Amino acid sequence: MAPIKHKFLRDKSITGSEKEIQVTTSTLNQTDKQDEVLILGGGVAGCAAAIALARNGRRVTLIERETTPRHKVCGEFLSGEALEDLQLLGIDVTSIGAVPIDYVRLAAARRAAEAPLPFPAKSLTRKALDTALIAEAIASGVGVERGHSVRALAHTTGGMWQATLDDGTTRAAPTVFLATGKHDLRGHARAEDPLRWVAFKMYFRLAPAQAAELAGASELMLYPGGYGGIQPVEGGIANLCCVVQQKYLGGSGNRWENFLEKMQQDCPHLAMRLAGAEPLLAKPIAVTHIPYGYIRPTTDDGLYCIGDQAAVIPSFTGDGISIALHTARCAVAAYLAAEPAPLFQAKLRSALMAQMRLALFAADGLNNSFARAVLPFFLSAWPGVMRVTAKLTRVAQHSSVVSHATAV
Ligand SMILES: Cc1cc2nc3c(=O)[nH]c(=O)nc-3n(C[C@H](O)[C@H](O)[C@H](O)COP(=O)(O)OP(=O)(O)OC[C@H]3O[C@@H](n4cnc5c(N)ncnc54)[C@H](O)[C@@H]3O)c2cc1C
Repeated sequence: MAPIKHKFLRDKSITGSEKEIQVTTSTLNQTDKQDEVLILGGGVAGCAAAIALARNGRRVTLIERETTPRHKVCGEFLSGEALEDLQLLGIDVTSIGAVPIDYVRLAAARRAAEAPLPFPAKSLTRKALDTALIAEAIASGVGVERGHSVRALAHTTGGMWQATLDDGTTRAAPTVFLATGKHDLRGHARAEDPLRWVAFKMYFRLAPAQAAELAGASELMLYPGGYGGIQPVEGGIANLCCVVQQKYLGGSGNRWENFLEKMQQDCPHLAMRLAGAEPLLAKPIAVTHIPYGYIRPTTDDGLYCIGDQAAVIPSFTGDGISIALHTARCAVAAYLAAEPAPLFQAKLRSALMAQMRLALFAADGLNNSFARAVLPFFLSAWPGVMRVTAKLTRVAQHSSVVSHATAV
């Protein structure tokens, strides 16, 4: 496999920090196409908001830079809350191949502990999920423009928002939903990521005995500087998704194959899973600078921030997709109820704060060498702790911010 140093860490298509977009103030040009709502980004949050708005009779234009859905760095775990929201959107994940996940297993050093999940869960590749979501948006009447990257977003003197695309054309609307995921708009950038997290995803075809042991389980593996997860997805393959702080990756010479080997030395459970496995991508997909723990404090009038643009929860919780769907639903409800965007954003922040604090606290524990040594012993004795943690790090579906969100 190729070294990661130059091929991945500087890949502009996957590195959020290199995708910043200029925000300026300008006057509205006569040729602009004016829509009621503009949605920037057609991933989970953007599509979910677009579908709900269109079904509520709003004219919506969604701009997505990719011409077709592609693999994204993601563990591809769908929590019970995510499954409920997807069902409300009309996405039947089982019919597109999602596989059930019933257990969580935690492995560190030479030990592993297992507990049943306290909610139904599944896994599905992001490519399949994003394909279904964008198809549903189109079927709901959303004007989807793919293959265009938003370069600039300006609040015009007439109170409209104006997005300038990479081909120089503009789109304007009084309301914008910002759903560009890990990619920031300049002037709307999220906090720095001091630990400089790097994440990788790779698909493997496991040896038959290992695939059988992994069936129905999501396995979380701990190693110095990060953690990784492996779980089955559709098509009889497994997704290995891992995060590591940049300073630990440096110890592997910034090379994927060295890092993969090191993870297996530090966590023999992973070595066992990958024995005889066939990698299915020519190189892993990678992303850098993930601002874990971020919750957007405020926004401007008419600009609702959703998904990773609203909050970035540590990945081990497997709750980012659920938060993306939840924040989209809440933002649509707020917009339909004429709640100003700054008020919505502040309420969302307080609703997500407790869950985020607990997830950050647990993530600190996972990165602690003493905890890594004792956790599997402790959890084998009290597997209930894993169930409770899994439950508490879910998004609070019934908090005050969603009081008017259930109908959308
Ligand atoms: C290592 C890792 C593992 C994870 N594992 C899980 C998991 O197992 N389960 C889970 O629930 N969550 C997981 N997450 C979190 C989850 O992937 C995200 O929270 C979720 O994808 C956020 O959805 P979104 O819609 O905000 O962003 P995305 O789904 O990333 O969508 C953003 C979209 O915007 C588009 N875009 C970006 N910039 C522009 C632009 N300038 N113009 C036009 N379009 C643009 C992109 O192409 C993309 O389609 C994980 C995250 C990481 C980093």
